[in-house]
Amino acid sequence: MEILCVPCGVSMKVGQTKKGPNDGSMALKFGCPNCKSTIALLTGPEESKLIKSLNISAGSAKSAPAKPAKPEIVWTKDAEARMENVPVFVRPMAKSGIEKYAKEKGVTEITPEIMDAARETMGM
Ligand SMILES: [Zn+2]
Repeated sequence: MEILCVPCGVSMKVGQTKKGPNDGSMALKFGCPNCKSTIALLTGPEESKLIKSLNISAGSAKSAPAKPAKPEIVWTKDAEARMENVPVFVRPMAKSGIEKYAKEKGVTEITPEIMDAARETMGM
């Protein structure tokens, strides 16, 4: 379900959710992020259930702090080929160590050079 701001045509965001005047009713406030106009929606008990089931109450998902997407670590073909030479039983440890090193350096691509640098700091 989406509430649209008619003049802007954008989806309004759930601002506040309050208990309505009647038992089981709910007052939902929606705000337009564009023109800042607000509307309130008062629901009856049955609709409140519906809205709860739609999981838009209290704006829980929206108010959660947005974490920036972590860049995925990419292994180049050369680096992967080099990993083949690492004994199987130390591979997971070496791999996580190298990725940890890369993250610390803000590197998102594992190259043989990064592997060398990481191994030096790990003493491997
Ligand atoms: Zn608007």
